[in-house]
Amino acid sequence: MSFEVLLDAGVVTRCRRRVHLEHDPAMRGVDLGPPDPAIEQRIADAAAHRADIAGRLLEATTPEPGAATEHWVTVPRDLPASERVQRTRSALARGVPFIWGALLPADHAAGRRGGSELLVRTEQGYLPVLVVRHRITDRGSGARTTPVTDLEPAHASADPERKVRSQPRDQLRLAHLRRLLQAAGHAEQGRALGGVIGLDADVVLWHDLDVPTWPGGRTALAEYDARFADRRAVASAAAEQREALAEPSRIVECRSCPWWPTCNAELIRTRDVSLVVRGEDAVELRKVGVSTVDKLAALDADDEPPVQWTGTTFTDAVALARAWLADLTVVRRVAEVVVPRADVEVDIDMESFGDSGAYLWGCLLSGVDIGLEQGYRAFATWEPLPTTDEARSFAQFWAWLREVRRRTAEAGLTFRAYCYNAMAENRWLFGSVQRFAGLDGVPSLGEVREFVDSDEWVDLFRSVSDQFLCSHGKGLKVVAPVAGFRWRDPEAGGEASMRWYRDAVGMDGAAPDPAQRGRLLRYNEDDVRATYVLREWMTSPAITQVPYMGDL
Ligand code: SF4
Repeated sequence: MSFEVLLDAGVVTRCRRRVHLEHDPAMRGVDLGPPDPAIEQRIADAAAHRADIAGRLLEATTPEPGAATEHWVTVPRDLPASERVQRTRSALARGVPFIWGALLPADHAAGRRGGSELLVRTEQGYLPVLVVRHRITDRGSGARTTPVTDLEPAHASADPERKVRSQPRDQLRLAHLRRLLQAAGHAEQGRALGGVIGLDADVVLWHDLDVPTWPGGRTALAEYDARFADRRAVASAAAEQREALAEPSRIVECRSCPWWPTCNAELIRTRDVSLVVRGEDAVELRKVGVSTVDKLAALDADDEPPVQWTGTTFTDAVALARAWLADLTVVRRVAEVVVPRADVEVDIDMESFGDSGAYLWGCLLSGVDIGLEQGYRAFATWEPLPTTDEARSFAQFWAWLREVRRRTAEAGLTFRAYCYNAMAENRWLFGSVQRFAGLDGVPSLGEVREFVDSDEWVDLFRSVSDQFLCSHGKGLKVVAPVAGFRWRDPEAGGEASMRWYRDAVGMDGAAPDPAQRGRLLRYNEDDVRATYVLREWMTSPAITQVPYMGDL
């Protein structure tokens, strides 16, 4: 039995195997991974963002009282799809200038369906405008924009302050909608424009889908058509249970894909080479017949490399394959592991909530007694972000760290602070001094820069990356357990902490939940204790028990 294949715009940026699985009748009822709370949250945030933009646009476009024309139609998202399509079709036929929440008639011949946040009528027909919750421009110049409430592309000009941020999915979705509008007989004639309103909601960014801005001199429409044809073939083969046109291969997207349990089982069964190398490298290796971990492990790293590596070196890839076969989570790349240590040490871990701010700086003080209480302490704000109370907690954190460094220096001792992946901490160190410049106790940019650039700030993630091969990833949650550390909370993780945070501060209108605050503090404390245990282990004699890659 087969069913009709009707694809939405998302397929052209989605993993090909996922498109296959979603259309394979044999996969119905298969257990999927648990829903990702971060994705659910993003969907809710996107809905709130759309509602906000709709309100602003409706107000800005509403004609003077007494104007007779029907200027705006909202198609409610909670209606059945057939009803939404019918209302959209009717509004298009009436020539309504703005159609919000449109669901276009499916193009059964092409196997396409989809909707647009907004359809805008111009003199040439209709064009789609997306409302998205990511950034669409960067500082620079040249993007074609209009003010956010001006939906007339003829008013667009080269923006002196913004350049286009690469967001291929937006352009491909606009192309998808243009094809649907064409099939419905309502697309603009003579040009292929589409607009996007992003997270900042300060401008409409206009894309011309017919200019050759894509690799190989292709246009967005040409790129879209090629990808769509490919995904349609994949989906049709799956639906008709013909030979699969897409096989699983571990890629970045797998981390948040609900099909991971299914694909992971298959990858392990076939001992697929993508289990140990990057997706791009796996593709190239398969082309030269190195399709399994076993085949990679059997190569001689002193021979000519079989492919141009993008994510590793030949030597490391072979060693990693051998480590995987031997079920070793970590393997030493170096004969002697080194982590810079000091008399007085602090492990630091910051918790942020999306782009809204850093609500918690957790610190673990250890080493020689300098007259300050040793152990864990947290500098936090529990006012929902964004809040200027964050400046207070950040200033208190910095004042404490400054005091630790001052006392250490005065005692003639050495000092070091450790984190795991400094990119995140540095982002909010610099971000905080910039956002809260001049507020009470907030340090200068120069003071923070001096610390970050000094030898006193040690990124343990880099120490791990440089000195170990990690066959199951380099995350703290993977590596610290090898050193014997266990988190107290079985659910501990970045995604879960987002949920806990929302409850802890009462972000969704509920009363703040002190139990979730406690949970976040315990989680943060365990993170700094994990880096402490990890670096202790890395500088202990036990580290010599970790196999050396040259011995594999
Ligand atoms: S788990 Fe990975 S390979 Fe499988 S469908 Fe998802 S993204 Fe594709």
